[in-house]
Amino acid sequence: MGTTTFTRKSLGLETVEPALTPTPTDKATTLPKKPRLSTGKSKKRDIPEGLWTKCPKCQAMVFDKELDENLKVCPKCGHHFPIGSRERIHSLVETCTFEEMDAKMTSVDVLNFNGVDTYASKLEAHQKKTALKEAVVTGICKIGDERAALGVMDFSFLGGSMGSVVGEKLTRLIERATEKELPVIIISSSGGARMYEGMFSLMQMAKTAAALAYHAQQRLPFISVLTHPTTAGVMASYASLGDLILAEPGAMIGFAGPRVIKDTTQAELPMGFQTAEFLLDRGLIDAIVQRTEMKQQLIEYLNFLSVRKKAAAAAS
Ligand SMILES: [Zn+2]
Repeated sequence: MGTTTFTRKSLGLETVEPALTPTPTDKATTLPKKPRLSTGKSKKRDIPEGLWTKCPKCQAMVFDKELDENLKVCPKCGHHFPIGSRERIHSLVETCTFEEMDAKMTSVDVLNFNGVDTYASKLEAHQKKTALKEAVVTGICKIGDERAALGVMDFSFLGGSMGSVVGEKLTRLIERATEKELPVIIISSSGGARMYEGMFSLMQMAKTAAALAYHAQQRLPFISVLTHPTTAGVMASYASLGDLILAEPGAMIGFAGPRVIKDTTQAELPMGFQTAEFLLDRGLIDAIVQRTEMKQQLIEYLNFLSVRKKAAAAAS
């Protein structure tokens, strides 16, 4: 009782505000929301949509055109935004040299998968959304002076998951490279095997790895580029089999997610243990390459590897 009277008194002392104080107590929950909503709206009105993107790392507002010109890398802090397979191919290959393979190959719902959505409807929705047929684009191209077999995954298509078409397209690419004596470059970005296809997706791990083994037997180089994120079945197969393994800065790379590992091992995990930087320190990957420097670096690696191959052929 004593305390309530005291507070009433103290409120009463602020004679300027009595008319205002009852309202916030009555509508304490609704009032703070209103100004927040209104300020949010007015901010949106100030910045036209689709012109600016907020960088999740440094919070800077980056002009979309500037971001596109910089290959979706934040010009302020170097954060690497996701990039589509078409844009990436465009950033790497010489103009008009990309000859796409198996462009029309599409997945089939062999298991008649039915969950929240059917696999068939998911496929259709992603094909419409991304204008891609599948989660990987493959083809033969020229990078610098070197011809190469290039496969680029696209995370926006069903999380870049590897189903039978992704596995088949990559296997055909690797086999074509073996036949034509070309180096293979695969740029990965994937959540792993496509569970809608069950075992059919898992066997792609063995299939792609076997094709790479035949490619390696011919002493042909394979450069694997890991981008954010490269995990699970893809990381456990071709992505980790590169003669050279490169990664983009800050990319998440691993097999199982951190929570699963923590629950299984019951151990505290070191900070950032699934990042490209952590894995570079421990020797799992060979180099971290900025996206804006990727083409130049690939040209240098390809030149180096082809010179070595030519020298070996001359010596034998
Ligand atoms: Zn930034």
